[in-house]
Amino acid sequence: MKVHNFNAGPSVLPNEVLYKASKALIDFDGTGMSILEIGHRTEPFIAVMEEARSLAKELMQLEDDYEILYLQGGATTQFMQVPMNLLDSGDTAAYIDTGVWSNKAIKEAKLFGYVDVIASSKETNYNHIPRQFTVPQQAKYLHITTNNTIYGTQWQSTPETDVPLIADMSSDILSRQMDFNKYALIYAGAQKNMGAAGTTMVAVRKSILGKITRKIPSILDYRLHIENASMLNTPPVFAVYISMLTLRWLKGQGGLAAIEKLNNKKAALLYDEIDHNPLFRGNVVKEDRSKMNVTFTIDKPELEEEFLKFCKKEDIVGIKGHRLSGGFRASLYNALPIESVEVMVEAMKFFSLKKA
Ligand code: PMP
Repeated sequence: MKVHNFNAGPSVLPNEVLYKASKALIDFDGTGMSILEIGHRTEPFIAVMEEARSLAKELMQLEDDYEILYLQGGATTQFMQVPMNLLDSGDTAAYIDTGVWSNKAIKEAKLFGYVDVIASSKETNYNHIPRQFTVPQQAKYLHITTNNTIYGTQWQSTPETDVPLIADMSSDILSRQMDFNKYALIYAGAQKNMGAAGTTMVAVRKSILGKITRKIPSILDYRLHIENASMLNTPPVFAVYISMLTLRWLKGQGGLAAIEKLNNKKAALLYDEIDHNPLFRGNVVKEDRSKMNVTFTIDKPELEEEFLKFCKKEDIVGIKGHRLSGGFRASLYNALPIESVEVMVEAMKFFSLKKA
């Protein structure tokens, strides 16, 4: 192990993936060329893309009507690509505001139609997931952010609604079992649980497309990407390759059932320490706590810097909180070994005793 990497994204990747990718940088599968040197329309790369697409579909157990795309522009591009493809200018879309990322999605959607923000946890600094809301019948879709990377909240169940449900799952994709078929469209930047920065996975139920009158630029039209098997233009070959390796690794670990078990264990370990250690305090309400991004503060703010320095000495990196929520944030993505969480918990115990 190198260091205990709690970065929020880009973040820790499985060693096995890094090792294979480093080999493929020199010679990809005995082709005598680097993965960066082969054409994207050659057989070896088409096989990579197809495996990445089919593994994502298999891991999420998506029905036949779904297509998987690997696009560019980050999840941030999806903030506008979703409404551009699904919302005509006179239409309304419902959004639930659970923090910074939902807000960015809301801002972009407003460029394309009416946005009804049907619930928000802003008044309590996004410390919970809103439970009271009604989705207007005329809404073309409901958009949620399943995990709030900055504030550390997470939807524990899928909201029931009659309109197509769309989710930004950038920071908890493939971390737990859920009925992914309840979502008409899912998007996620790859750089947390799905690989490296540079590609964004989109899973879309085909039947929701083609229902608007707006003309869509080709590169932003999901239907064209589907027709072209996610190769409308040159895809980000290396990022897709890393994603494919990461999904292979995940399947090898036992898929979502196994990773969920492990993720539950890791989160329980850390939250248990936060709840029992008199020096630390969790930021969000217990029932909405994220198992991916654990946010907490220290009761004596004057010790914050010292704790960060202490962690650094222990090879614990990436736990400084986002400037908007302060304190600390430990991201426990799929590839983070439980041993890293154990080291973190020990560091908290030791530091607290030293300061008692
Ligand atoms: N949504 C969520 C939930 C995120 O955590 C992030 C990035 N951390 C984004 C969207 C933006 O992703 P990108 O930087 O890939 O555009």
